[in-house]
Amino acid sequence: MSKKLNWIDEELQNLQEVGLYNKIRTLSSPQGAWLVVDGKRVLNFCSNNYLGLANHPRAIAAAQEAMQQYGLGPGAVRTIAGTMDLHLQLEQRIAAFKRVEDAITFQSGFTANTAAIPALVGKGDIVFSDELNHASIIDGCRLSGATIPRYKHADPQALGKTVREEEGHYRRGLIITDGVFSMDGDYPPLDKITEIAETYDLMLMVDDAHGEGVLGEGGRGIVDHFKLHGRVDVEEGTFSKAFGVVGGVVAGNARIIEWLRQRGRPFLFSSAVTVPDVAATLAAIDILEESTELVDKLWANAAFFKAEMLSLGFDTGLTMTPITPVMLGEVTLAREFSRRLYTENVFAMALGFPTVPVGLARIRVMISATHSKGDLEQALEAFAKVGRELGVIG
Ligand SMILES: *Cc1c(COP(=O)(O)O)cnc(C)c1O
Repeated sequence: MSKKLNWIDEELQNLQEVGLYNKIRTLSSPQGAWLVVDGKRVLNFCSNNYLGLANHPRAIAAAQEAMQQYGLGPGAVRTIAGTMDLHLQLEQRIAAFKRVEDAITFQSGFTANTAAIPALVGKGDIVFSDELNHASIIDGCRLSGATIPRYKHADPQALGKTVREEEGHYRRGLIITDGVFSMDGDYPPLDKITEIAETYDLMLMVDDAHGEGVLGEGGRGIVDHFKLHGRVDVEEGTFSKAFGVVGGVVAGNARIIEWLRQRGRPFLFSSAVTVPDVAATLAAIDILEESTELVDKLWANAAFFKAEMLSLGFDTGLTMTPITPVMLGEVTLAREFSRRLYTENVFAMALGFPTVPVGLARIRVMISATHSKGDLEQALEAFAKVGRELGVIG
């Protein structure tokens, strides 16, 4: 009997023992304020569907219409089979929406990062990376072969110090930070980071995955929020969060985008997203450009929920956005809290080490524009009940 795969059983057993085994819940409904999860109807606070676009009638209709005209698949990679005008249209529309020169789309936000970073830096180069940056940034940095000094989270002074220490020791340099950090819902002082990039003539990239559709005028993202148009070289983004679909994008300086069309490996060696994805994303951009109503509702919901949680006595951490962490400390407490919320028909995820530091376990509440006042009130009641049962609040 071959033993060569026994190590997997041991590793999985180990994950279960330390409580890191992921058991994935099965949904049998569209994304929205309410879900059917494992057959049970629950209030949803887990998704990144900030604006409800994942199940928007206009996006669905646009996808259906585009399929009539273009069918489903792109056939092959764009550099070989040619590119559909639909994909080009999406790139022009997202660049205009973000008020930048140009954009290139990818299969996902994850691949956008693994495309862009190794195209910009390589051996002998340097990436100054926020210590809490997303896994796809970390993987992109590793693929590049550059050296990767990490700086203290969202701290321009620490970044400046590291930049000065490394001066003269590299060929090209790049600063990378997440826009909104998804575990805490905070964002860095991008204006200060931009000043450092300009002072030391470094390229600057921000990953706006949780900022698009949320921050800035009508959801134009973190660069728009800080009014830094033309000063941040690269905005990486995703269509899988507020846009409600799937796909990645790199937007910004036209020279960089042109370079990525030549040298972004996932662009050259992996096919583009399908026709309905592109059409639905275009509809999402239409909806965002027509009105700020959904973005305004998202922020109003978040302000209401957060204020009520604070007055109940909960600690909502560092959040500056609709991502609302409920700080609980020990991971066992966070898990029990999440389990009891679920029996109250509230679906909200517990996060513990290694996703967040030891001792900073939490429930992460993802607020959406789809939640009604009544939904939020029902959730607040459940949080109050479970919080008192478990002695978290008085
Ligand atoms: C979700 C996320 C991504 C990945 O986006 P996908 O399109 O889902 O692959 C990249 N970066 C950050 C910061 C994210 O939060």
